[in-house]
Amino acid sequence: MTDIAVTLADKRGTLPADDKLGFGKIFTDHMFVMDYASDKGWYDARIIPYGDFNISPAAMVLHYGQAIFEGMKAFRTEDNRVVMYRPVDHLKRFNNSANILSIPQMDIDVVHAALKKLIDIDKQWVPKSLGTSLYIRPFVIAVDPYVGVKVAAHYTLFIILSPVGAYYASGFKPVKIKVEDHYVRAVKGGLGEAKTAANYAASLKASEVANEEGYTQVLWLDAIEQKYIEEVGTMNIFFKIDNEIITPELNGSILNGMTRRSVLEVAKSWGMKTSERRISIDEVYEAHANGRLQEVFGTGTAAVISPVGELSWKGKKISINNGGIGETSQKLFDYITSLQQGRVADKFGWVEEVTKL
Ligand SMILES: *Cc1c(COP(=O)(O)O)cnc(C)c1O
Repeated sequence: MTDIAVTLADKRGTLPADDKLGFGKIFTDHMFVMDYASDKGWYDARIIPYGDFNISPAAMVLHYGQAIFEGMKAFRTEDNRVVMYRPVDHLKRFNNSANILSIPQMDIDVVHAALKKLIDIDKQWVPKSLGTSLYIRPFVIAVDPYVGVKVAAHYTLFIILSPVGAYYASGFKPVKIKVEDHYVRAVKGGLGEAKTAANYAASLKASEVANEEGYTQVLWLDAIEQKYIEEVGTMNIFFKIDNEIITPELNGSILNGMTRRSVLEVAKSWGMKTSERRISIDEVYEAHANGRLQEVFGTGTAAVISPVGELSWKGKKISINNGGIGETSQKLFDYITSLQQGRVADKFGWVEEVTKL
């Protein structure tokens, strides 16, 4: 196993009060860095003080967007252990994104060991109160100084850590979502299945327009017919129709969400009927018209479960559950967040202890 060199920061920062954390604005004292050169492979694995770094203005990532990332969480349990949620599954997906962007594969064991060591060093930054967590952001960028299009030969991998506040600081609340009928996010054969910067760049304009119209996010439809439901862009989407939990199948243009996978497995373990299949927006509106659409919710690491209270498609608005929180959305949220924070037994083997405080 690769040795990980550690350089500790001279001064340690302090964790703000849990209600001052917000999301993604505060970073811990250290970060993990590792370089890649085509003639050496991944090398120089190191934990160093968190800080700005230098790259050439010609660094390829800045021009052509060869970049991937992950998003996962660590939690502090009531008995003061620090645990991570499905870290190896996240790192496998990281390598899948790498493959799609022609970025060299990483040794998951090395990155996993580095992540544990980094969290152990910065464990005082893991917030404590219910709903808070340490958000983990691994990413890889192409750093060759070259203004020409090709697959890069040099990359840098970083892992940075950010203590984050409770997503639902003012209560678990349903969101309003616009079903996008003009812009598209990704198409089969493209980058939709990768966690890559480009997919987010492609989503900004539509989000801006939707926000101006009073919607928090957009629900993307397939890019060819604009008929079949894809995902929310930061979240996967689920529908409860006739007591069945339905989510679009993995078709190459949507992300294989870890929370999506967790929800499917948990719902199955409760004996609920689940299916991953193509579902059209017409089917959803029809189910609503017939009184069969019981719930709609998004799934993602940041919010875990995000109940949807209203959908708007081509100006036609439907209210789901009278804008309230569905029974299954609430139950899944309670169960998965409890599992993550070690408050219920982990029968799935998803929670991994990193260190103790
Ligand atoms: C990260 C992400 C999600 C949610 O995935 P989780 O693993 O559940 O956090 C959904 N869609 C896209 C495009 C994403 O990047």
